[in-house]
Amino acid sequence: MKNVIILGSTGSIGTQTLEVIEKLEGYKVSALSCGKNIELLKKQIEKFSPKFVCTQTSDDADILSKIYPQTKFFFGNKGLLELIKTEYDVLVVATSGIVSVKAVLKAIENKKTIALANKETLVMAGDIVMKKAKEYKTPIIPIDSEHSAILQCLNKTDNPYAQRLWITASGGPFLNNTREEMQSFSAKDALNHPRWNMGKKITVDCATLVNKGLEVIEAHHLYDFDYDNIKVVIHPESLVHSFVEFTDGSFLAQMGLPSMHIPIQYALTYPERKKGIKTNSFCPYGRQMNFFEPDFNKFPLLKITIECGKQGGIMPAILNAANEIAVYKFLEGKINFLDIEKIVLKEIESTKNTLNPTIDEIFEKDKEIRLKLSQL
Ligand code: MG
Repeated sequence: MKNVIILGSTGSIGTQTLEVIEKLEGYKVSALSCGKNIELLKKQIEKFSPKFVCTQTSDDADILSKIYPQTKFFFGNKGLLELIKTEYDVLVVATSGIVSVKAVLKAIENKKTIALANKETLVMAGDIVMKKAKEYKTPIIPIDSEHSAILQCLNKTDNPYAQRLWITASGGPFLNNTREEMQSFSAKDALNHPRWNMGKKITVDCATLVNKGLEVIEAHHLYDFDYDNIKVVIHPESLVHSFVEFTDGSFLAQMGLPSMHIPIQYALTYPERKKGIKTNSFCPYGRQMNFFEPDFNKFPLLKITIECGKQGGIMPAILNAANEIAVYKFLEGKINFLDIEKIVLKEIESTKNTLNPTIDEIFEKDKEIRLKLSQL
């Protein structure tokens, strides 16, 4: 029996991971962590009986420990570190934001598989995290569909014949709209994603294509490819989840219906494959697939994000923080859609880069930018 810890169990990836584990033989939940959705957490505790649970606040931990005396409760950032001291085989990191970055760095020392769905970990601290993962030989298996596809095509991460990565993008809900039309789009329009069912923040990031830029940065760190050898290709049908191009001109693609269950399960069972959730099957009959070059003029944040990745240092963290605050302002109806890129660009252009930052320098910068922008 393999024990799984899920950080961020009540979010989109967390709940889908639990759906996968329910149908997957040989896996059980040993620990959960959650932020604010205590009602859902209660249902998860009743269904999966985890030995350990970490809540955000001490009040929630106190209340829950009285209702569920069989479970040991922790709270806060220190609580997350306590969870990763417990026995486990796979750590699923499905939190959003930066709360789990330090826990991941600590977990690397355990040499147990880390199934990573959190983008900030690699975007903000990719150099530090991957260096440490190599040092401890800890597998970091991506849950994101594109990076899972690349891993499945590469077979092993240092495949010497792999020349280029082609990351597919659905293009988001505004693929066929003009910039004039985008100007007046509301949060509701942006949240209406044509293919994938995801959390709100990432759905807006798909509409601006920031998400794809962040995935390029992640792919650079995960697979050690130069930015020049990572391409983005718009593929509205979301059936090919990415390609790897080899030296002899061959392309390998990983395909399937757009469902996060498949990459989640692959991360849990890697390098094996098992029968499991497979909720719907893919049939190629009658399907059409299109592939286009991305329009960087229409979606400038894609280019800006990749550029920040190339610059490295503290720039990706600056971009990430500025983008997140701008996206929440947009979701609250305080700014319009195209203001997101203006806010991000202004922040990037006005901040000096620091190369080889420490993890604390990255966190400090992140905090500084969030504070500054949320006061605007
Ligand atoms: Mg993705």
